[in-house]
Amino acid sequence: VPLVLTQFLDRAVSLYGDKEAIICEERVFTYKELNHRVNRLSHGLRGFGVQKGDRVAYLAPNSVEMLEGFYGVFQLGGVMVPLNIRLKPDDYLFILNHSESKVLFVDQDLYHLIAPIKNKLETVEQIVIHYKNPETNEIGYDEWLGEQSETAFSRADVDENDVCSLLYTSGTTGNPKGVMLTHRNNYLHAMSSMHHLRVCDEDVLLHVLPMFHVNGWGSPFYYTANGATQICSRKTTPALIFDAITKHQVSIMHMAPTVLNSLLQYYEQNTPTFDQSIRVVIAGSAPPPAFVTRVEQELGWEFIQVYGMTESAPLSLVSVIRSQLKDLPMDDQYRLKAKAGISMIGCEVKVVSEQGDEVTHNGKEIGEVIVRSHGVMLGYWKNEEATMEAIRNGWLHTGDMATVDEHGHIDIVDRKKDVIISGGENISSIEVEGVLYDHPDVLEAAVIAVPHEKWGETPHAFIVLREGRTTTEQELITFSRERLAHFKAITGVTFVKELPKTASGKIQKIVLRNDYWESAG
Ligand code: ATP
Ligand code: MG
Repeated sequence: VPLVLTQFLDRAVSLYGDKEAIICEERVFTYKELNHRVNRLSHGLRGFGVQKGDRVAYLAPNSVEMLEGFYGVFQLGGVMVPLNIRLKPDDYLFILNHSESKVLFVDQDLYHLIAPIKNKLETVEQIVIHYKNPETNEIGYDEWLGEQSETAFSRADVDENDVCSLLYTSGTTGNPKGVMLTHRNNYLHAMSSMHHLRVCDEDVLLHVLPMFHVNGWGSPFYYTANGATQICSRKTTPALIFDAITKHQVSIMHMAPTVLNSLLQYYEQNTPTFDQSIRVVIAGSAPPPAFVTRVEQELGWEFIQVYGMTESAPLSLVSVIRSQLKDLPMDDQYRLKAKAGISMIGCEVKVVSEQGDEVTHNGKEIGEVIVRSHGVMLGYWKNEEATMEAIRNGWLHTGDMATVDEHGHIDIVDRKKDVIISGGENISSIEVEGVLYDHPDVLEAAVIAVPHEKWGETPHAFIVLREGRTTTEQELITFSRERLAHFKAITGVTFVKELPKTASGKIQKIVLRNDYWESAG
């Protein structure tokens, strides 16, 4: 049997047909109903002339429309191109033309981003509006879907090595690159994720990460396969998250550390009451150690750190799970959970020197993380050169630096390009941020390299203080000097109201670097 993603929906429909598949604000659909909508979507797309291999783009927040899009497009053997909702019209123009998308689904609230470039779209033949706003003259999704048949769709002949998605990277270093993931990539990634996260039919997932980003994009597969219920809303705030937890008895959430931080802050200020239905919360993107303890102690949720990237479908490493730690003292448990962790089933992860030799497993020697796994992308769409640069001898070179301890636990040090080199020593911006997050007045911290006459570079912090707090630059410098080797301590602080973030909640250090240079004149 080829490993194609439509199997996951089939399984859920046959075993859990009358169970709630998705609840999005006021709308509830069982797996059978979802399947009918998926069929309608596939029939409608075929009516537009979409064929196997054609690209179908989505510009939408988390919604039923987005979820059903996956399976509706896959039944045709189509390729989904989810677009980040925080880009600019010109970025959409680039991606839509570059991916040669044929159909574009847009949420009405985002249509204004497409209207200005509509006439320059080279390949898009149809635009369909979710939640149609009467002011646009494009096709409205609900009406269009209602006209299609819900009967079983005769599926395209899809091979497991066929591409199912083009996920564009954030494009920090040039034009965004389209990561080609295959059915097999996502299928096997889902299998190993559901094992490590112990996903089952009793799970209720609250979607917090956006589905247009790889972390939010990959998870629906394993929740669908297991007949879990998925909850989403087009907007999420801490208040809505706490409400949803109790209302739906949510058991599991994936989120970015920045969102976790806003939840913690909201909890401290408002002490909302919520049911203890959450069994685990999952976060990647370098969560500061303080978050691990606060999530477990203040909110009472188990925390699992994961590590991955779009190019590997995404996950490759998972930190240890509570049951594996039960004999260790709490401090050791937290220490291990603050590491990205151990390789997931089906992933080979190594940390190597520039010469390609594995680093000594002593928790000290630093090297680059390389990955060989079922999840590693086919390549970048129409970008041979970048593909050859990223995948060498079958290994994905992540550009992330790490250490490995004697038990094989991998600790991500930093992105290669974020490492601060001071007096010939490497400083992990993540480590310095971790210390700043231990300060009671610090709400958010980001550390970048700035030039230093004597040391070459030195760590500089951008800090958002908690409301009403007045800690000074000097106090934070002293605080970091007391807790870090002196060469790692920050030497300057810029206080800001907020930090620039990507739509997936990542702090954009590149923007901070530009800000620093602008203010330095
Ligand atoms: P782009 O490649 O377009 O610049 P990006 O690298 O931020 O964007 P993603 O694929 O979403 O896009 O993110 C993957 C990166 O996130 C990893 O390469 C790594 O730098 C970082 N990351 C993910 N998980 C962790 C973690 N647990 N600890 C530290 N860093 C992490
Ligand atoms: Mg990257």
